[in-house]
Amino acid sequence: MKIEKSKSLFSRAKNYIPGGVNSPVRAFKAVGGDPIFFKSASGAYMYDEDGNKYIDMINSWGPMILGHAHEEVEEAIIKAVRNSPSFGAPAERELLIAELICEMVPSVERVRMVNSGTEATMSAIRVARGYTGRDKIIKFDGCYHGHGDSFLIAAGSGAMTMGTPNSPGVTAGTAKDTLQANFNDLEGVKQVVADNKDEIAAIILEPVPGNMGCVLPQQGFLEGLRQLCDEEGIVLIFDEVMSGFRLAKGGAQERLGVIPDMTTLGKIIGGGMPVGAYGGKKEIMDYVSPQGPVYQAGTLSGNPVAMAAGHTILNYLYDHPETYGKLESNTKKIVAGYKETLDVLGLDMTINQIGSMYSLFFTDSQVTDFESAKKCDTAAFGQYFNLMLQHGIYLAPSQFETLFVSAVLSDEDIQDIISANDECLRAVMDVAAN
Ligand SMILES: *Cc1c(COP(=O)(O)O)cnc(C)c1O
Repeated sequence: MKIEKSKSLFSRAKNYIPGGVNSPVRAFKAVGGDPIFFKSASGAYMYDEDGNKYIDMINSWGPMILGHAHEEVEEAIIKAVRNSPSFGAPAERELLIAELICEMVPSVERVRMVNSGTEATMSAIRVARGYTGRDKIIKFDGCYHGHGDSFLIAAGSGAMTMGTPNSPGVTAGTAKDTLQANFNDLEGVKQVVADNKDEIAAIILEPVPGNMGCVLPQQGFLEGLRQLCDEEGIVLIFDEVMSGFRLAKGGAQERLGVIPDMTTLGKIIGGGMPVGAYGGKKEIMDYVSPQGPVYQAGTLSGNPVAMAAGHTILNYLYDHPETYGKLESNTKKIVAGYKETLDVLGLDMTINQIGSMYSLFFTDSQVTDFESAKKCDTAAFGQYFNLMLQHGIYLAPSQFETLFVSAVLSDEDIQDIISANDECLRAVMDVAAN
């Protein structure tokens, strides 16, 4: 596979952009090699600058759930652009998407649009603090909530891959208000809450973490957090930037049946445009300016082009609930193929899967939290990643990411993914054996 143009663009980019990329995980630092520069994408495939074709298993980290350049989304964007890319004033589309979000995610009674998942989580904890009059929050090791200062504490994939679990530049004052807990460890959370009685504004988590690889909540964990928050007057925030509109039309909360007080959304909600949103109970969201005293604003928030893209993709998912069955069956087929390879090769590796999210972990232990995720053989993953790339399968360039399956994979694509996985695992294990 020839990747000369990508290599040359990357070496030029490093002279002008920190590390040559506009978001760290794109740099392939965790897997070795240079990042691929892409030129176009359509359906299940992405095409790079050198003309190579890949089956995309990241799908822009989620948004391309219907495949790239989906016709309806594309048309909505073009139409919106022709009506002006921005008004800086209200427009009907903002209402339509808000109505639809509240319909699809019933715990969201009021919603505010922002421009990224990072903005959504930053704003949500500010509102939770304003509402409760408390300062501290609890976050879980390995959960990622964007790059807001309060969250850059054991923040999962990107930060961990770069070897900076706690980023310089975050002040001690900010860090002290973020308390850490272990995912799936309800007793541990109860202890942190007891030690900080009446001081905790919010518990924030990915109900199904994807940022330490795909990790599933154990029976009773989310239910226990819900009960604890009720007893202690703590705002429970589900960060569904990744799982929202992916695990069900109403996200992980619908699928798992545990309802948070506030929800943050992103990724799919923008259909590929930069969008985030936060919302929740009316009583809490009424604290947001101009209704209430907690300030939060955005020049381009609710941007008409972004709203057109987001509204169109959400509408599609709402009107085509069978998409979720298709996503799940695509993913189950892939995982079944992987398991066959593991059986044949006698390999004991962990696969976590729910809906259209899954991870193949290079460890024989169960992965249930950040500690267990860290047991993975990341060097072997790096080799596997690069081999898969040569086979035309574009995976997330880190062991600590979930993969995102799209609805447009054909049975042939699925077979290609399974065969590539089979060949690449054999090759990696041969190297390991010698
Ligand atoms: C991606 C992600 C974010 C951050 O969203 P950005 O749009 O990258 O700022 C926050 N939370 C979760 C769970 C995410 O997966």
